[in-house]
Amino acid sequence: MKVALPPPETLLPALQATLYSGMIAEGEQVYRFETAFAGHFGLASLLAMSSGTAALHAALVLAGVGPGAEVVTTPMTAEPTNLAILHAGGTPVWADVDPGDGTLDPGSVRERITDRTRALMVVHYAGYPARMAELLAVARDAGLPVIEDCAHALGATYGGAPVGSLGQYGVFSFQAIKHLTTVDGGALALGDPGQLTRARAFRWFGMLKGVDRAEVDITALGYKYNMHNVAATLGLVQLGGIDALLARHVANGRFYDAELARIPGLAPAAFDPRGRPAYWLYTLLCDDPEDAGRALQARGVAAAKLHKPNHRHTLFGPMARELPGLERFYRRLLHIPCGWWVDDESRQRIVDALRKG
Ligand SMILES: *Cc1c(COP(=O)(O)O)cnc(C)c1O
Repeated sequence: MKVALPPPETLLPALQATLYSGMIAEGEQVYRFETAFAGHFGLASLLAMSSGTAALHAALVLAGVGPGAEVVTTPMTAEPTNLAILHAGGTPVWADVDPGDGTLDPGSVRERITDRTRALMVVHYAGYPARMAELLAVARDAGLPVIEDCAHALGATYGGAPVGSLGQYGVFSFQAIKHLTTVDGGALALGDPGQLTRARAFRWFGMLKGVDRAEVDITALGYKYNMHNVAATLGLVQLGGIDALLARHVANGRFYDAELARIPGLAPAAFDPRGRPAYWLYTLLCDDPEDAGRALQARGVAAAKLHKPNHRHTLFGPMARELPGLERFYRRLLHIPCGWWVDDESRQRIVDALRKG
């Protein structure tokens, strides 16, 4: 994965202006970034935060997750998805994933719901939208809110709607290697604008900006989770180039989808056709992933599995259970380079290497 930054002649004047403006903490740049990001990606009520993990923590608390609460979730993700459930005091309950694309299996999610379940955590893993129609139906039947972890899926859509707008909460990450980076940062999209005030207080010590500090009364625990103006400036400049960057991920992903389907022993991810993936990572399924990985490495191409199924961490050990769909997916998984830095020649070389084996 590579860090995407705008050219210095575009970025540095904007950063310099903010850095020496005398206003570097949360302020106007942050609010401008929130409006611009939300407008660009079709999200309604959006708050910028210090990280995606912070936004996940906020979503969970706003969803009513606390000590004793269970959250049905996927182990096939980056660790922050599930660490945030522990931050909120909840317990992750693992549902199985679809062996075709590694996103949650709605039938398995339904089976894991108990009277202690307070939320469903859905991850659009590697940028492939999860089976939202079925997952939202499961949530509706059980009366549960859905949190979408969109950290891999900026720009992806499902049934024509942007990810992050389908569930009650949408979480984005602007960490170093995500599609859009502010060095570190994140955002929380809220389905219910009535929760904006609570969410704002949650991200800033439980207080509201603009209220006299001698008068303000903290009624619920808050954190230091705000974004600052320097990160927001970076975000605003990044938005200028984001469409071309996202389009390159998608063009590479579609190229592989077409080319690799024809190679025996390899299969592109079998994703829900209602979804338009963002292809943050390219999910290739192989009869022999070690062999395919070696063929690429021999030609200087880095290919690997990028995450460890979270339930295999000691910390999550007590919550372990059998997940046959995940085992099948993970055994066959290989992520191959797909990002904005992969040009036409490189992607053709990757396909040729995989064909020759
Ligand atoms: C990157 C990531 C996060 C956390 O984002 P940070 O901004 O690094 O806190 C959450 N979930 C997933 C799936 C991620 O990849």
